Amino acid sequence: MKNITIILGDITQVEADAIVNAANTTLLGGGGVDGAIHRAAGPELLAECRTLNGCRTGEAKITKGYRLPARYVIHTPGPIWQGGADHECELLQSSYLNSLKLADAYDCQTVAFPSISTGVYHFPLEAAAPIALQTIREFLRTSKSVAQVTLVCFDPVTKHAYDQSLADLDE
Ligand code: ADP
Repeated sequence: MKNITIILGDITQVEADAIVNAANTTLLGGGGVDGAIHRAAGPELLAECRTLNGCRTGEAKITKGYRLPARYVIHTPGPIWQGGADHECELLQSSYLNSLKLADAYDCQTVAFPSISTGVYHFPLEAAAPIALQTIREFLRTSKSVAQVTLVCFDPVTKHAYDQSLADLDE
């Protein structure tokens, strides 16, 4: 049975086949979840990222997980919120979809996401949560390997928004 789970936690501790990193386009590390993933994975992650030549917003690239419990890290730069008229919603959807496609191509059964773009990129949480959940739900209908997706929320406000949005989706 394929499904979506929402938890409160630290994504660097999650045992999944792949965790997703809310990266920036350089893929060379940053603050927030990106910094936490690089610290936990160790310097080998940055060394591999240096070989990737960055990544466009909404696209995704994969590396090994090194010292993380996850086998792979999928790096995707989400959009920076500019007010909503600059394709931010489509780009956020692309970040989730391209990450899921990559996970499926690498035979991952379990994938964990952070709340992409809702930190320093300021995408409004109430708009981001339904985009994330609808994209994941739709993808799971036809996925080959991906069967379990976990949204890892770092604070209770974020978890509440995703819980609410999932309940709305199930109505
Ligand atoms: P972005 O630049 O895409 O907005 P951020 O890292 O600033 O990325 O924030 C994205 C979300 O990730 C925020 O909700 C932030 O609180 C959360 N976050 C930060 N550290 C972690 C972590 N270790 N595990 C899971 N989520 C985290």
